[in-house]
Amino acid sequence: MAMPKLIPDQMEVMEILKKTGAYREGHFIYPNGQHTPHYFQMPLAFRYYDTARVLAVALSRKFRGEKVISSALPKVAIISPSPGGIPVAFGVREALNAEQIYWAEREEGKRRFRQYVNQGEINPCVIIDDITRTGKALTETVELVRELGAQAIGCGVIVRFTSAPTRIDNGDDGVPILSLVEFEAKWYEEGQKCAECEQTAPVEHVRF
Ligand SMILES: [Zn+2]
Repeated sequence: MAMPKLIPDQMEVMEILKKTGAYREGHFIYPNGQHTPHYFQMPLAFRYYDTARVLAVALSRKFRGEKVISSALPKVAIISPSPGGIPVAFGVREALNAEQIYWAEREEGKRRFRQYVNQGEINPCVIIDDITRTGKALTETVELVRELGAQAIGCGVIVRFTSAPTRIDNGDDGVPILSLVEFEAKWYEEGQKCAECEQTAPVEHVRF
């Protein structure tokens, strides 16, 4: 019997995302008018315990390989920048046996924790999200924990668009964004020269 691989490769992760509907191919239009031939809706992969666990454990193994993180465990806080990252953050927390977990939400245009949640000491932070397209949510969350006197020592996502940076500035040397999939997204502004438009493929409007 073949030994299961410790970390599934990018193709295996994409198979899981496809199978669960979290990765979709077609002809999609965003509210801002951009057209794209692919769409990620990551909570679809995290609605199944089994696939959620495979993905979270795989991501946690990437962090185990980072000395700055493995040497800080279990005194680490796992932080989700938004509700979408919460199931990933809980899965990674469990796999790493990290002590704390937090999640931020956007309130009046600012990313923040719930009132009183940040009282007391926040351990060195690992920021975990389901997907990053621009790195903005990760960057804002690294800034948020810095304002609260904590240091981000890692960042990780299931899928990183290659349009996102590879590192996030944490006020020190910066931290790399670890990911299971590096995805090169295709965009067409307002449908200009969209290949699917040219094939008159039916469109699906997506909310964000
Ligand atoms: Zn189109």
